[in-house]
Amino acid sequence: MSGRREILLHEMGLGPVWKLRQALRVPAPPLSADLPSAAIVETPAAQPSPADLVLDYAAAFEGGDDTFAEPDFGTAVEPVAAADSRREIIMRMDWPQLREAVADCTACALSGTRRNTVFGVGNPSAPWMIIGEAPGAEEDARGDPFVGQAGQLLDAMLLSVGLQRSRDVFIANVLKCRPPGNRNPEPDEVARCLPHLLRQVALVKPRLILLMGRFAAHAMLETDASIASLRGRVHQVAATPAIVTYHPAYLLRTPLDKAKSWEDLVFARATWRGLQSLSGDPISTA
Ligand code: SF4
Repeated sequence: MSGRREILLHEMGLGPVWKLRQALRVPAPPLSADLPSAAIVETPAAQPSPADLVLDYAAAFEGGDDTFAEPDFGTAVEPVAAADSRREIIMRMDWPQLREAVADCTACALSGTRRNTVFGVGNPSAPWMIIGEAPGAEEDARGDPFVGQAGQLLDAMLLSVGLQRSRDVFIANVLKCRPPGNRNPEPDEVARCLPHLLRQVALVKPRLILLMGRFAAHAMLETDASIASLRGRVHQVAATPAIVTYHPAYLLRTPLDKAKSWEDLVFARATWRGLQSLSGDPISTA
C-alpha cells in the first residue's frame, strides 16, 4: 500500500491500515442466489432522430400526447400509461437529450423548489458508476453531485482504491433535484425521476455499480431491506454487478462505520478485478 493511500485512509479516520497480503486477482464472487428483482434497462436498436425525440418529449409535457398529461403533483401515483410513455421516451435519449430533459424537467414538485438540477458528473464511459440519493444544499447551489464534505470523503474513498472521480467513475443521484430541507425523497418523486437514472446507467454501461445509501439501494434493487443486510453481496442492476455501501454523508455522522465502508470498497475492488480477469480485460484501475 502506498504512503499516499495510507494518508488518505488516515484522513478518512480508518485504522489500523489494512494491508492486502496478495493481489486481489480473485474470480468475481457468485451473484446472490436470492437476488431482489432488478430494474431492467434495454436500449432499443432503432434510434429516432434527435429532433423527433425532442418533439415527442416536448409534446408529452405540453399535453400534445394524450397519454402524458400535465403532471398532477397532488397525485401520489403517476398513471401507468403516462409513466410508461414518459419512460419509453427517456429510454431512447442520448446524452445531450437526457441532459436537456433533466434541466427542463417539471415531472414532480421538486422542480418548484430547486435552484439547479444535478445531472451527474464524471466519465460518461466509466467502468464504475456511483449512485447516491439526492442533492443537498451545496449540490443544489452548484449543480454537481457529491460536493462539500461528503464529496471530499467520497473522493478520498475512491482514491483509497485507486479510482479518480473524473477518470474512473460516473456519479449520479436517484433524484436530480433537492428535496427541501434535505428531507427524505418521497416514493412518488423517486418513481418519476428514476427513468433519468436508468437511462444514465444504460448510456454509461458501467462494469460495476456502487449503491451508496439506503435510498439508492432501495430504488435500484427494488427492496426495503436494511443496508446492513444488503452489504457484502453482489446484486444486479440491469445485469450489472452492484454492491451496496453507506453514503458518505452518513459516514460523516457515523464515523465508526467508515471501517465497514472500507470493507465494502475492498470487496467492490475484488469483484471488479475478478470480473476483469474473467473477461480477459487488462486490470487498468483500482
Ligand atoms: S426530481 Fe427528477 S422528476 Fe422531479 S423535477 Fe427533478 S428531474 Fe424531474
